[in-house]
Amino acid sequence: MKWGLIGASNVASEHMVSAIRAQPGHEVVAVMSGNASRAQEFAKANSIAEFYDDVDRLLAQSKVDAVYVSSTNEKHCAQVIAAAAAGKHILCEKPLALTVEDAMAMRDACAQAGVVLGTNHHLRNAATIRKIRELVRSGAIGRPLCARVFHAVHLPPHLQGWRVDKPQAGGGVVLDITVHDADTLRFVLDAEPVEVVGMTQSTSMSENGVADGVMAVIRFDNGVMAQMHEAFTVRHAGTGIEIHGEIGSVIGRNVMTQRPVGEVVIRDALGEREVEVQHENLYVRSVAEFSAAVRGAGRPAATAEDGVMSLAVAAAVAEASRSGCTVRVMSPFK
Ligand code: NDP
Repeated sequence: MKWGLIGASNVASEHMVSAIRAQPGHEVVAVMSGNASRAQEFAKANSIAEFYDDVDRLLAQSKVDAVYVSSTNEKHCAQVIAAAAAGKHILCEKPLALTVEDAMAMRDACAQAGVVLGTNHHLRNAATIRKIRELVRSGAIGRPLCARVFHAVHLPPHLQGWRVDKPQAGGGVVLDITVHDADTLRFVLDAEPVEVVGMTQSTSMSENGVADGVMAVIRFDNGVMAQMHEAFTVRHAGTGIEIHGEIGSVIGRNVMTQRPVGEVVIRDALGEREVEVQHENLYVRSVAEFSAAVRGAGRPAATAEDGVMSLAVAAAVAEASRSGCTVRVMSPFK
Protein backbone atom coordinates (compact mmCIF):
# COMPACT_ATOMS: atom_id res chain seq x y z
CA MET A 1 0.00 0.00 0.00
CA LYS A 2 1.32 3.42 -0.95
CA TRP A 3 0.59 6.25 1.45
CA GLY A 4 0.39 10.01 1.12
CA LEU A 5 0.65 12.17 4.23
CA ILE A 6 -1.70 15.15 4.48
CA GLY A 7 -0.07 17.34 7.11
CA ALA A 8 3.62 17.78 7.87
CA SER A 9 3.04 17.16 11.55
CA ASN A 10 4.86 16.11 14.63
CA VAL A 11 2.72 12.99 15.18
CA ALA A 12 3.49 11.89 11.62
CA SER A 13 7.25 12.23 12.04
CA GLU A 14 7.40 10.92 15.62
CA HIS A 15 5.04 7.96 15.31
CA MET A 16 3.18 7.36 12.06
CA VAL A 17 5.84 7.33 9.34
CA SER A 18 7.68 4.52 11.15
CA ALA A 19 4.39 2.75 11.94
CA ILE A 20 3.47 2.73 8.24
CA ARG A 21 6.95 1.56 7.26
CA ALA A 22 6.72 -1.26 9.83
CA GLN A 23 3.95 -2.90 7.72
CA PRO A 24 5.24 -5.31 5.09
CA GLY A 25 4.78 -3.81 1.62
CA HIS A 26 3.77 -0.34 2.85
CA GLU A 27 5.53 2.81 1.65
CA VAL A 28 5.19 6.54 2.32
CA VAL A 29 5.45 8.06 -1.16
CA ALA A 30 4.41 11.70 -0.68
CA VAL A 31 3.73 14.41 1.87
CA MET A 32 1.59 17.52 1.58
CA SER A 33 1.88 20.68 3.68
CA GLY A 34 0.23 24.07 3.30
CA ASN A 35 3.70 25.53 3.07
CA ALA A 36 6.05 24.44 0.25
CA SER A 37 9.31 24.81 2.15
CA ARG A 38 7.93 22.92 5.18
CA ALA A 39 6.75 20.15 2.82
CA GLN A 40 10.22 19.95 1.31
CA GLU A 41 11.94 19.98 4.69
CA PHE A 42 9.60 17.27 6.05
CA ALA A 43 10.13 15.11 2.95
CA LYS A 44 13.89 15.39 3.28
CA ALA A 45 13.96 14.74 7.04
CA ASN A 46 11.74 11.66 6.64
CA SER A 47 13.18 10.33 3.34
CA ILE A 48 9.93 10.79 1.39
CA ALA A 49 10.35 11.09 -2.37
CA GLU A 50 7.60 13.57 -3.27
CA PHE A 51 6.21 16.66 -1.62
CA TYR A 52 3.30 18.98 -2.45
CA ASP A 53 1.86 22.22 -1.12
CA ASP A 54 -1.60 21.51 -2.50
CA VAL A 55 -3.87 18.70 -1.35
CA ASP A 56 -5.47 18.19 -4.77
CA ARG A 57 -2.07 17.60 -6.37
CA LEU A 58 -1.27 14.90 -3.83
CA LEU A 59 -4.71 13.34 -4.28
CA ALA A 60 -4.28 13.35 -8.09
CA GLN A 61 -1.40 10.86 -7.73
CA SER A 62 -2.88 7.53 -8.81
CA LYS A 63 -0.14 5.59 -7.03
CA VAL A 64 -1.40 6.85 -3.66
CA ASP A 65 -3.79 4.22 -2.22
CA ALA A 66 -4.31 5.70 1.23
CA VAL A 67 -3.75 8.94 3.07
CA TYR A 68 -2.97 9.72 6.69
CA VAL A 69 -4.50 13.07 7.69
CA SER A 70 -2.71 14.83 10.57
CA SER A 71 -3.17 18.49 9.77
CA THR A 72 -4.61 20.83 12.42
CA ASN A 73 -8.15 19.87 13.35
CA GLU A 74 -10.10 22.47 11.36
CA LYS A 75 -8.64 21.12 8.10
CA HIS A 76 -9.56 17.44 8.57
CA CYS A 77 -13.12 17.70 7.23
CA ALA A 78 -12.40 19.25 3.82
CA GLN A 79 -9.25 17.13 3.32
CA VAL A 80 -11.03 13.86 4.15
CA ILE A 81 -13.98 14.63 1.88
CA ALA A 82 -11.56 15.51 -0.96
CA ALA A 83 -9.59 12.29 -0.36
CA ALA A 84 -12.79 10.22 -0.42
CA ALA A 85 -13.79 11.84 -3.73
CA ALA A 86 -10.36 10.87 -5.09
CA GLY A 87 -10.96 7.24 -4.04
CA LYS A 88 -8.29 7.12 -1.32
CA HIS A 89 -8.67 5.18 1.93
CA ILE A 90 -8.19 7.46 4.92
CA LEU A 91 -6.76 7.15 8.39
CA CYS A 92 -7.62 10.48 10.03
CA GLU A 93 -6.39 11.95 13.27
CA LYS A 94 -8.72 12.77 16.11
CA PRO A 95 -10.81 14.79 16.55
CA LEU A 96 -12.30 13.89 13.17
CA ALA A 97 -13.59 17.48 12.88
CA LEU A 98 -14.67 20.46 14.95
CA THR A 99 -18.37 19.50 14.91
CA VAL A 100 -20.33 16.26 14.92
CA GLU A 101 -22.13 17.41 11.76
CA ASP A 102 -18.82 17.74 9.89
CA ALA A 103 -17.63 14.37 11.20
CA MET A 104 -20.87 12.78 9.95
CA ALA A 105 -20.36 14.41 6.53
CA MET A 106 -16.87 12.84 6.42
CA ARG A 107 -18.20 9.44 7.44
CA ASP A 108 -20.99 9.63 4.84
CA ALA A 109 -18.63 10.81 2.06
CA CYS A 110 -16.32 7.85 2.71
CA ALA A 111 -19.21 5.38 2.84
CA GLN A 112 -20.58 6.70 -0.47
CA ALA A 113 -17.13 6.57 -2.11
CA GLY A 114 -16.59 3.01 -0.83
CA VAL A 115 -13.35 3.90 0.96
CA VAL A 116 -12.33 3.02 4.52
CA LEU A 117 -12.24 5.84 7.09
CA GLY A 118 -10.48 5.10 10.37
CA THR A 119 -9.95 7.37 13.38
CA ASN A 120 -6.50 7.29 14.94
CA HIS A 121 -7.54 6.78 18.57
CA HIS A 122 -4.28 5.12 19.52
CA LEU A 123 -5.26 4.02 23.05
CA ARG A 124 -7.51 1.22 21.75
CA ASN A 125 -4.32 -0.30 20.40
CA ALA A 126 -2.50 -0.34 23.74
CA ALA A 127 -1.99 -3.85 25.09
CA THR A 128 -2.84 -2.52 28.57
CA ILE A 129 -6.18 -1.02 27.51
CA ARG A 130 -7.04 -4.14 25.51
CA LYS A 131 -6.28 -6.29 28.55
CA ILE A 132 -8.49 -4.10 30.75
CA ARG A 133 -11.31 -4.47 28.23
CA GLU A 134 -10.84 -8.24 28.15
CA LEU A 135 -10.96 -8.42 31.97
CA VAL A 136 -14.13 -6.33 32.17
CA ARG A 137 -15.82 -8.40 29.44
CA SER A 138 -14.83 -11.68 31.09
CA GLY A 139 -16.57 -10.69 34.33
CA ALA A 140 -13.33 -10.53 36.35
CA ILE A 141 -14.62 -7.50 38.33
CA GLY A 142 -18.31 -8.36 38.15
CA ARG A 143 -20.81 -5.80 36.90
CA PRO A 144 -18.97 -2.50 36.28
CA LEU A 145 -20.33 0.36 38.38
CA CYS A 146 -18.01 3.31 37.88
CA ALA A 147 -14.73 4.37 36.31
CA ARG A 148 -12.04 7.03 36.62
CA VAL A 149 -9.58 8.27 34.00
CA PHE A 150 -6.48 10.25 34.95
CA HIS A 151 -5.06 11.95 31.87
CA ALA A 152 -3.58 15.23 33.12
CA VAL A 153 -0.18 15.72 31.55
CA HIS A 154 2.27 18.52 30.81
CA LEU A 155 2.45 19.44 27.12
CA PRO A 156 6.07 19.75 26.03
CA PRO A 157 6.86 23.12 24.38
CA HIS A 158 7.01 21.71 20.82
CA LEU A 159 3.40 20.48 21.16
CA GLN A 160 1.96 23.68 22.60
CA GLY A 161 1.48 25.96 19.52
CA TRP A 162 -2.07 25.94 18.10
CA ARG A 163 -3.26 23.56 20.83
CA VAL A 164 -3.06 26.24 23.50
CA ASP A 165 -3.99 29.46 21.68
CA LYS A 166 -5.99 28.76 18.50
CA PRO A 167 -9.65 27.90 19.14
CA GLN A 168 -10.29 28.23 15.38
CA ALA A 169 -7.80 25.38 14.72
CA GLY A 170 -9.57 23.16 17.25
CA GLY A 171 -7.13 23.89 20.06
CA GLY A 172 -7.88 23.06 23.68
CA VAL A 173 -7.73 20.05 25.93
CA VAL A 174 -11.29 18.86 25.25
CA LEU A 175 -10.76 18.25 21.52
CA ASP A 176 -7.22 17.06 22.18
CA ILE A 177 -7.47 14.62 25.10
CA THR A 178 -11.11 14.26 26.20
CA VAL A 179 -11.89 12.64 22.83
CA HIS A 180 -9.28 9.94 23.53
CA ASP A 181 -10.62 9.23 27.00
CA ALA A 182 -14.23 9.14 25.81
CA ASP A 183 -13.21 6.66 23.13
CA THR A 184 -11.23 4.54 25.59
CA LEU A 185 -14.16 4.37 28.01
CA ARG A 186 -16.60 3.38 25.23
CA PHE A 187 -14.13 0.69 24.18
CA VAL A 188 -13.42 -0.71 27.64
CA LEU A 189 -17.01 -0.56 28.91
CA ASP A 190 -18.70 -1.58 25.67
CA ALA A 191 -21.29 1.07 26.41
CA GLU A 192 -22.58 4.30 24.90
CA PRO A 193 -22.44 7.71 26.61
CA VAL A 194 -25.81 9.22 27.49
CA GLU A 195 -25.14 12.49 29.34
CA VAL A 196 -22.30 14.54 30.81
CA VAL A 197 -21.48 17.27 33.28
CA GLY A 198 -18.17 19.10 33.13
CA MET A 199 -16.09 22.15 33.88
CA THR A 200 -13.06 23.50 32.08
CA GLN A 201 -10.29 25.80 33.27
CA SER A 202 -7.80 28.07 31.48
CA THR A 203 -4.79 28.41 33.73
CA SER A 204 -1.10 28.80 33.03
CA MET A 205 -0.71 27.60 29.45
CA SER A 206 -3.66 28.65 27.34
CA GLU A 207 -4.73 31.89 25.68
CA ASN A 208 -7.73 33.20 23.76
CA GLY A 209 -10.25 31.32 25.88
CA VAL A 210 -8.75 27.90 25.12
CA ALA A 211 -9.18 25.36 27.95
CA ASP A 212 -6.05 23.71 29.34
CA GLY A 213 -7.81 21.60 31.98
CA VAL A 214 -11.16 19.80 32.22
CA MET A 215 -12.99 17.54 34.63
CA ALA A 216 -16.12 15.76 33.46
CA VAL A 217 -18.46 12.93 34.39
CA ILE A 218 -20.16 10.74 31.78
CA ARG A 219 -23.17 8.53 32.46
CA PHE A 220 -23.23 5.50 30.16
CA ASP A 221 -26.25 3.53 28.94
CA ASN A 222 -25.29 0.55 31.14
CA GLY A 223 -25.51 2.76 34.24
CA VAL A 224 -21.74 3.21 34.68
CA MET A 225 -20.60 6.68 35.74
CA ALA A 226 -17.09 7.67 34.62
CA GLN A 227 -15.04 10.57 35.87
CA MET A 228 -12.33 12.06 33.60
CA HIS A 229 -9.58 14.57 34.25
CA GLU A 230 -7.55 15.91 31.32
CA ALA A 231 -5.02 18.74 31.37
CA PHE A 232 -2.04 20.19 29.51
CA THR A 233 -0.53 21.79 32.60
CA VAL A 234 0.10 19.09 35.20
CA ARG A 235 3.67 17.83 35.47
CA HIS A 236 3.63 14.99 37.97
CA ALA A 237 0.16 13.48 38.26
CA GLY A 238 0.83 10.29 36.31
CA THR A 239 -1.90 8.74 34.16
CA GLY A 240 -4.28 5.85 34.63
CA ILE A 241 -7.69 4.30 34.32
CA GLU A 242 -9.72 2.43 36.93
CA ILE A 243 -12.85 0.37 36.38
CA HIS A 244 -14.65 -0.57 39.59
CA GLY A 245 -17.07 -3.48 39.57
CA GLU A 246 -19.28 -5.29 42.07
CA ILE A 247 -16.60 -7.84 42.99
CA GLY A 248 -13.33 -6.16 42.06
CA SER A 249 -11.44 -3.34 40.43
CA VAL A 250 -9.13 -3.32 37.41
CA ILE A 251 -6.53 -0.60 37.46
CA GLY A 252 -4.22 0.56 34.66
CA ARG A 253 -1.26 2.65 35.83
CA ASN A 254 0.73 4.84 33.44
CA VAL A 255 -1.41 3.60 30.55
CA MET A 256 -2.93 6.78 29.06
CA THR A 257 0.12 7.37 26.92
CA GLN A 258 1.49 7.01 23.41
CA ARG A 259 4.16 4.55 24.52
CA PRO A 260 3.84 0.77 25.03
CA VAL A 261 4.29 0.96 28.81
CA GLY A 262 2.31 0.72 32.03
CA GLU A 263 0.83 -2.01 34.19
CA VAL A 264 -2.54 -3.58 34.82
CA VAL A 265 -3.61 -4.89 38.22
CA ILE A 266 -6.71 -6.54 39.59
CA ARG A 267 -7.77 -5.84 43.16
CA ASP A 268 -10.47 -7.95 44.85
CA ALA A 269 -11.14 -10.09 47.93
CA LEU A 270 -7.92 -12.01 47.20
CA GLY A 271 -5.81 -8.82 47.28
CA GLU A 272 -3.93 -7.08 44.46
CA ARG A 273 -2.09 -8.86 41.66
CA GLU A 274 -0.50 -7.75 38.42
CA VAL A 275 -1.90 -9.09 35.14
CA GLU A 276 0.60 -9.97 32.43
CA VAL A 277 0.54 -7.76 29.33
CA GLN A 278 2.51 -8.19 26.08
CA HIS A 279 3.30 -4.60 25.15
CA GLU A 280 3.31 -3.59 21.48
CA ASN A 281 3.66 -0.33 19.53
CA LEU A 282 0.23 1.34 19.52
CA TYR A 283 0.63 3.08 16.18
CA VAL A 284 1.97 0.01 14.37
CA ARG A 285 -1.12 -1.85 15.52
CA SER A 286 -3.37 1.01 14.42
CA VAL A 287 -1.96 0.95 10.88
CA ALA A 288 -2.10 -2.86 10.76
CA GLU A 289 -5.81 -2.89 11.68
CA PHE A 290 -6.53 -0.11 9.19
CA SER A 291 -4.76 -1.88 6.34
CA ALA A 292 -6.57 -5.14 7.16
CA ALA A 293 -9.82 -3.19 6.84
CA VAL A 294 -8.71 -1.88 3.44
CA ARG A 295 -8.07 -5.51 2.38
CA GLY A 296 -11.61 -6.33 3.50
CA ALA A 297 -10.42 -8.31 6.52
CA GLY A 298 -11.88 -6.45 9.48
CA ARG A 299 -12.44 -2.90 10.63
CA PRO A 300 -10.10 -0.10 11.69
CA ALA A 301 -9.32 -0.26 15.43
CA ALA A 302 -11.43 2.90 15.75
CA THR A 303 -13.97 3.39 12.97
CA ALA A 304 -15.45 6.59 11.57
CA GLU A 305 -18.44 6.02 13.87
CA ASP A 306 -16.10 5.76 16.88
CA GLY A 307 -14.57 9.09 15.85
CA VAL A 308 -18.03 10.66 15.57
CA MET A 309 -19.00 9.40 19.04
CA SER A 310 -15.83 10.58 20.79
CA LEU A 311 -16.41 13.99 19.24
CA ALA A 312 -20.06 13.93 20.37
CA VAL A 313 -18.85 13.44 23.96
CA ALA A 314 -16.32 16.26 23.61
CA ALA A 315 -19.02 18.57 22.22
CA ALA A 316 -21.29 17.70 25.14
CA VAL A 317 -18.48 18.31 27.68
CA ALA A 318 -17.73 21.70 26.12
CA GLU A 319 -21.42 22.63 26.18
CA ALA A 320 -21.80 21.43 29.80
CA SER A 321 -18.85 23.59 30.77
CA ARG A 322 -20.31 26.65 29.00
CA SER A 323 -23.83 26.22 30.34
CA GLY A 324 -23.25 24.71 33.77
CA CYS A 325 -25.95 22.15 32.92
CA THR A 326 -26.11 18.41 32.37
CA VAL A 327 -25.91 17.87 28.59
CA ARG A 328 -27.16 14.87 26.63
CA VAL A 329 -24.66 13.30 24.23
CA MET A 330 -26.25 13.64 20.80
CA SER A 331 -25.57 10.36 19.04
CA PRO A 332 -26.41 10.52 15.33
CA PHE A 333 -26.65 6.71 15.30
CA LYS A 334 -29.77 6.35 17.45
P1 NDP B 1 1.69 19.76 14.52
O1 NDP B 1 1.55 21.10 15.13
O2 NDP B 1 3.01 19.09 14.59
O3 NDP B 1 1.24 19.79 13.00
C1 NDP B 1 -0.05 20.19 12.60
C2 NDP B 1 0.05 21.10 11.42
O4 NDP B 1 0.70 22.30 11.82
C3 NDP B 1 0.91 20.51 10.32
O5 NDP B 1 0.11 19.74 9.49
C4 NDP B 1 1.49 21.76 9.66
O6 NDP B 1 0.61 22.26 8.68
C5 NDP B 1 1.52 22.78 10.77
N1 NDP B 1 2.91 22.94 11.25
C6 NDP B 1 3.75 21.98 11.66
N2 NDP B 1 4.93 22.50 12.02
C7 NDP B 1 4.83 23.82 11.82
C8 NDP B 1 5.72 24.91 11.97
N3 NDP B 1 6.95 24.72 12.42
N4 NDP B 1 5.27 26.14 11.66
C9 NDP B 1 4.00 26.33 11.22
N5 NDP B 1 3.13 25.33 11.04
C10 NDP B 1 3.54 24.11 11.32
O7 NDP B 1 0.52 18.88 15.14
P2 NDP B 1 0.49 17.49 15.86
O8 NDP B 1 1.32 16.47 15.23
O9 NDP B 1 0.70 17.72 17.29
O10 NDP B 1 -1.07 17.12 15.64
C11 NDP B 1 -1.56 16.90 14.33
C12 NDP B 1 -2.89 16.16 14.40
O11 NDP B 1 -2.69 14.92 15.01
C13 NDP B 1 -3.98 16.84 15.24
O12 NDP B 1 -5.23 16.55 14.68
C14 NDP B 1 -3.86 16.16 16.60
O13 NDP B 1 -5.07 16.20 17.32
C15 NDP B 1 -3.46 14.76 16.19
N6 NDP B 1 -2.64 14.04 17.16
C16 NDP B 1 -2.94 12.75 17.46
C17 NDP B 1 -2.17 11.99 18.27
C18 NDP B 1 -2.51 10.56 18.53
O14 NDP B 1 -1.79 9.92 19.27
N7 NDP B 1 -3.55 10.02 17.94
C19 NDP B 1 -0.96 12.54 18.90
C20 NDP B 1 -0.69 13.90 18.50
C21 NDP B 1 -1.49 14.60 17.64
P3 NDP B 1 0.84 21.86 7.16
O15 NDP B 1 0.35 20.49 7.04
O16 NDP B 1 0.04 22.83 6.39
O17 NDP B 1 2.32 21.96 6.98
